[in-house]
Amino acid sequence: MVSVAKFGGTSVATAAQLLKVKAIVEADPARRLVVPSAPGKADAKDTKVTDLLYLCHELASKGQDIGVVWGKIEKRFLDIVRDLGLALDLKPTLDEARDRIAGGASADYAASRGEAIHGVVVAALLGATYIDAAEVIFFDRSGRLDPKTYSTIKARCAGPGRFVIPGFYGQAADGQVKTFSRGGSDVTGAVVANGVDAVVYENWTDVSGFLMTDPRVVAEAKPITEITYRELRELSYMGASVLHEEAVFPVREKSIPINIRNTNRPEDAGTRIMATRDPGHQVVVGIAGTKGFTVFTIEKAMMNNEVGFGRRVLDVFERLGVSYEHTPTGIDTMSVVVSDKQLQVGGVSKNEQILEDLGSLRPDSITAAPGMALVATVGLGMNHAIGTAARLFSALAKARVNVRMIDQGSSEQNLIVGIEEADLATAIRAIYNEFA
Ligand code: ASP
Repeated sequence: MVSVAKFGGTSVATAAQLLKVKAIVEADPARRLVVPSAPGKADAKDTKVTDLLYLCHELASKGQDIGVVWGKIEKRFLDIVRDLGLALDLKPTLDEARDRIAGGASADYAASRGEAIHGVVVAALLGATYIDAAEVIFFDRSGRLDPKTYSTIKARCAGPGRFVIPGFYGQAADGQVKTFSRGGSDVTGAVVANGVDAVVYENWTDVSGFLMTDPRVVAEAKPITEITYRELRELSYMGASVLHEEAVFPVREKSIPINIRNTNRPEDAGTRIMATRDPGHQVVVGIAGTKGFTVFTIEKAMMNNEVGFGRRVLDVFERLGVSYEHTPTGIDTMSVVVSDKQLQVGGVSKNEQILEDLGSLRPDSITAAPGMALVATVGLGMNHAIGTAARLFSALAKARVNVRMIDQGSSEQNLIVGIEEADLATAIRAIYNEFA
């Protein structure tokens, strides 16, 4: 029985944090695979090592000296090694990375050194075997994970003892170091968990899991103890994020649960993310909302009879390279909900062009209504529990929130409402109070 323990940037930011990591790992013999991030922020004013590394790469690419910034990186690592009292000479490893970055190595190589070097430190601390992620994690030509990764990890981690595999990077098809997107050590942890058939993928961070909603909106928001992969996906779509989006797929394939844990409060059970859960009384698992959407509404009498009308509407958006979120339709109306991020590109708005192109479809009217917020109420089997929608809408009505759009979603686990941006906090609080 093995489990994977991934530790995020704040969990490994200082020697004091690393001692907590050691205690956690040693408390459970199943924790044989450890995936560390690069040292993150030790406090609010601190800078992540990864950010400093990207900065070094930027300086080097402009032919500037990286000495001062590199000095900060080196000091962080050497301070940690000294404070932990490790008999580890990190200087040659640091010098090699510095020379390659100064000599024009890629941004991915530069950024990956935070994890690569820290992995050596963590392995020394735990008395574990260090495995360079570039030797076991492979990307194919299109940049996707190559499935041979899984068998390679399984083979390399077959022996006894503990293994440390640094997060965030692997090897591209051309043999060069390649990173996942930012926060990607979460993905490494999930990939390793799949490779070794872990019983659980523990993701150790600085919060005790997910809360039912944003605590800045509902101060007393309750923690989520169990949530399904699917529910989490629906919630993170709205911006509720603790975990990298791509970290779910590798474990979901094998139904390995993810347990979000707090390095500073290991006694907390955290949130478990799994394939299924018993909804019990907890019909709604979480509520998330975001501002910044515009609704384009096209009205045309007898639209329902016109073959291909919907496609022509969506075609307008496609041709302008705008992706849409939802398309609620009525008999004579069709709306397209678009994130403002899609509409404002490089300070230029695409709204005028969209309205003009939609105009060529000869509708009776077209409107673009900006300033909409979306709120997702997520819960397994929610739409089967009779009266859930009624409870939601009467809670909103009581709070005097006007609902501009409803999208029940085919997943049957997510009810999205579109409201005025100004009503966002009120709406979230009203829904929370109804279902929490
Ligand atoms: N260190 C990387 C980042 O800051 C990856 C990670 O921490 O997950 O994005």
